[in-house]
Amino acid sequence: MDPATQTHLPALRQSLLERLRELQAELSVREPQPLDSTDVGDLTDTATQREFETLHQAEEQRDADELGAVRAALERMNAGRYGDCADCGEPIPLQRLLVQPAAERCTACQTAHEQAHAVSSAG
Ligand SMILES: [Zn+2]
Repeated sequence: MDPATQTHLPALRQSLLERLRELQAELSVREPQPLDSTDVGDLTDTATQREFETLHQAEEQRDADELGAVRAALERMNAGRYGDCADCGEPIPLQRLLVQPAAERCTACQTAHEQAHAVSSAG
């Protein structure tokens, strides 16, 4: 871990805990909401409903993914392994952790990781 990161650990832990609470609240509060049918009228059909649910699920999935990353970061913190890149083992720069406390890779490894897992169906 970068010595600079060490001195910022309490602040970073605080950010992670706050984010954890936010995400947990969002995920637990969120329930399927009935569509407001006043504007849609006769056009309301299962396709519209399905579209809405897909959007809703994608959003929920993003939150769930982030929640997992935040939890993992807190676990690494407890285990004393926080702040080191999961791939190359180098300390993650403090500037990156301040922006993204749940980051588990340095910028270079994160980019490589995302490219390796990129879905090629975009476009
Ligand atoms: Zn790395």
